[in-house]
Formats: sequence, C-alpha cells, structure tokens
Amino acid sequence: MTRPTILFLHAHPDDECILTGATIAGAVDAGWRVLVAYGTRGDAGETNKDLTGDTLGERRTREALSACAELGVDRVEWLGYDDSGMAGTETTGNAEAFSNASLSEVAARIGRTFSDERIDAVVGYDRHGTYGHPDHVQVHAITRPTAHEVGASWVLEATYNRDYLESLDEHPYSGTVADDPTAFGASFDEVTHFVEGHELFARKDAAIAHHHSQVPDDWDPDNRGIEQLDGFARVFGTEWYITHRIRGGADWSPFASLFCDKLLWSGAPPSMREYVPDV
Ligand SMILES: [Zn+2]
Repeated sequence: MTRPTILFLHAHPDDECILTGATIAGAVDAGWRVLVAYGTRGDAGETNKDLTGDTLGERRTREALSACAELGVDRVEWLGYDDSGMAGTETTGNAEAFSNASLSEVAARIGRTFSDERIDAVVGYDRHGTYGHPDHVQVHAITRPTAHEVGASWVLEATYNRDYLESLDEHPYSGTVADDPTAFGASFDEVTHFVEGHELFARKDAAIAHHHSQVPDDWDPDNRGIEQLDGFARVFGTEWYITHRIRGGADWSPFASLFCDKLLWSGAPPSMREYVPDV
C-alpha cells in the first residue's frame, strides 16, 4: 500500500470542504488516490443566490465538481438519492431520499460504482452525523457496511471536537445543538486523530469559495479581512476523526503522515495570515 486509496462519503456538496477539505488536500499532496461519493446533490438545501435557470441541485453539482477539482480529487461519483432536507421538514418523508434508503442497498450501490478500485480506507461521519442532519446520520450508518463491501481496512469518522467548540465564545452550531449539546460531534475522549489544517488551509479556503450558492453573502475571497478567515479557521481549520481498524493486522503507517494522534494537538490554530497569501 504505497499509494493508499481513500474514499470519502459525503451527504451534500460542500460537506467535502467543510469537514474534510484539508484532509483531501493533504492526501492529494501525499500522492494517495482520492475518491469522493455524494449521497445527494443538495437539492433540498437553501440558497439566497440567483440560480439563473439552474435547479439548486444542478448548481450545487457544478460547485462540487469545481471544488473537488480545486482540491485535486481523482474521481467524483453521485449516488443519485434525493436530499432529505432538515429533520422535521416535508422532504424527509420522500421515499427516494437518501436517509430512507436501506443500508445494504446503498453499500451495494457504492460497491458497484467503485468495483474497479482497491479502497484502503473509507471516510464517513460520526454517529451524530456530525450535527444531526438526516443525510449526515445516514452517511454514518452506511460507512461500515460500505467499508466491508469494498474491502477496506480502515473506517475514519469525520467529526467535530465538541469540547473544543464549546470552549469558543460563540458555538458555530448554537442553533442546532441547544436541545442536547451531546448529540453533536464527539468529545475529546472519543476522537482519535486530527488533520492540522494550517499548511493546507489556503487550499480548503479556495475550494469552499466554489460553493457560491452556500457561502455567506459577505464571503468574498477577493476582498475580505483576516478576521473572517481566522474565524473560519478557528472552527473548521482542524479536521477531527474517530478511527477504526476493521481488518485485523491492517497497517496504519501509510496514513500516519497525515492523521496525527489527538494527543499531539496544540490547541486553537494561529492566525492564518502567514498561511493564506494576499489577505
Ligand atoms: Zn451536508
């Protein structure tokens, strides 16, 4: 396994950047083969941008392809399910929604899609689907069945370091986690590894700018202050994982160059001023 192949499972366009953009950039730098599969095209999401004739799903598909090209992803596939929308909304009842698909059916579909690949690791989400969106919870549910289906040795669950985010002045998901703060991400006890985003942050930042329909109105890569960038880095600069070996004897060493042991984490990232040119 000199050049591992790593499959990232994501629910919607933009999740690949927000949760794993630095990891993808680092994997590409290391010469690994990087595959991304999306459960949906994000058609039930929200936007306040002018789509000029596109459906939201069409627009987000193009944005995702651009972002993945920016990051250097080798292959992108679409699993073809509908976006379930947020919990409690009308779209969650849709029989074609990703969150309503059977786990074995989804895993088999992924297995067929990537039958020509030798996949070493599958990246999915933690058991809360990071923040509870039904499609993100579904990504968690399919991660292990998929890893077994494709013969991978490792499962890596992307997550948020809940303890760290709760220490910030303003919790970035305060509106969605108020009822049960523990139903979000993972505690520091639960996480195992992190990808430090400092050196990779400019790439993550450049990739997320392709998701024009999703970024805030004041998000302008050509004209903004270091405060906005540092605020983004403070929350999303470090990417966290819960790692599971699912095949006995599997060798972790190829991955150790990118995924650091959590005990090596040095805390909140420094200002990105020295890492992002032209800010
Ligand atoms: Zn999502």
